[in-house]
Amino acid sequence: MAQIDTVLTGGTVVTADATFEGAVAIDDGTIVGVGDERAFPAAEERIDVDGNLVLPGVVDPHTHLAGYNSIDTYATGTAAAAAGGVTSLLTFAWQGWDDGEWDDEGTLAGAVERHRQGAEPVVDCGVHPVITQETPAVLEELPALVDDGITSFKMFTTDDIRLSNGFIGEVFRQLADLGAVGMVHTEDYAVCASRTDAVKAAPDGESATAYPRSRPDYAEAMAAGSVARLAAAADAKYYGVHTTSEAAAEAIAAVRTDGSNVRAETCTHYTALTADTYERLGNRAIMSPPLRTSRDVDALFDRLRDGTLSVVSTDHVPLPSEEKEAGPWWESAFGINSLQTSLPVFHDVAVNGRGLSYPALVRLMCRNPAQTFGLPQKGRIEPGADADLVVFDPDETYRITAGRNHSNADYSVYEDRTVTGRVKRTFVRGTLVAADGDVVADPGHGEFLRRRVPDWR
Ligand SMILES: [Zn+2]
Repeated sequence: MAQIDTVLTGGTVVTADATFEGAVAIDDGTIVGVGDERAFPAAEERIDVDGNLVLPGVVDPHTHLAGYNSIDTYATGTAAAAAGGVTSLLTFAWQGWDDGEWDDEGTLAGAVERHRQGAEPVVDCGVHPVITQETPAVLEELPALVDDGITSFKMFTTDDIRLSNGFIGEVFRQLADLGAVGMVHTEDYAVCASRTDAVKAAPDGESATAYPRSRPDYAEAMAAGSVARLAAAADAKYYGVHTTSEAAAEAIAAVRTDGSNVRAETCTHYTALTADTYERLGNRAIMSPPLRTSRDVDALFDRLRDGTLSVVSTDHVPLPSEEKEAGPWWESAFGINSLQTSLPVFHDVAVNGRGLSYPALVRLMCRNPAQTFGLPQKGRIEPGADADLVVFDPDETYRITAGRNHSNADYSVYEDRTVTGRVKRTFVRGTLVAADGDVVADPGHGEFLRRRVPDWR
């Protein structure tokens, strides 16, 4: 190597294991050296990062772009990602969701194809197909998709697209044979339906502050425990999405006792906000499952520390405020946008607020999601990995405002929140894609990720 492309110098590198002063050498989009700059070949470009941190780019495995419940295109959603230090994301390809309509004939392969065509992301993207129909044909589709680098699948136990536990168990059996991951939104449908009716009929039921009672923590815990057991029985890799409560985390931990194939995430907002947010923001803060109590937040941090929860994602669901605010809470569209704010908000609550270490932050937001979902090139600062990097100023304090949103969503649940720690620059495979909140790469720089069957040992 006579000359390499770039050296990031003058910073503190954070990996999953350590924090150290050092430089990162990049050539042809790949990291080719980490450590003492004097050991590297000469670089065409030398970038001084001014004493800031150099983190691996965030890998967000739970986002909603270009489809059901999302007003972001790949271009707008990944612009928010780039500005927020997210360099890879996984989104959902819904079986049967085509052009704003549900179609009973829809296949998983068709859903994946619609995402591949015309997507112009700024950062690297992949999809989890969502199984919405209980048909044998769906099971038959799985092997070819896994061969094609689509190695995880999403299911629901609740809402209109719910599947029965029996069918979810059959999917897990098939996934176990393939080595692929099953991820499930777990709330008990019947309990949520009956509690929702009860809350709607209550005198104060229309207020957003009543919403959490319609989807209680025990309904989440019941389904989380049942589904984890189904996965364990099939010996399938299982990933529980958006764990919100002490009760649900406990139910997952109970099935994980053998250090088995049961993993789970929580989301930034469940670590940063509690149910009193509904008093302040009303329907704007409605997502499912709901925000919980401060005791639940404490329990989530305990579970992030003990490994029951191993990933922090966003569940970015971009919606317009007018669809959130109309009428009582049950008429609100569900979900919040947060791709652009997740890293600074989680850094502020976890590192600044609770003393989480920087390597732990990197494990939860970068290395673990990459490893869990079959992306060995992502989420790590090591020679041979993709040069997906974030320059992060841990000391800069700023006020979050949706006025700077790259997402099509026109509000933020973190509006006016002051955080310390700011994304300065984001690189995807060695190319600068965002600087000081502005996106500087063209849509189309991002690639469609072909994933491996992950190794969870
Ligand atoms: Zn989601």
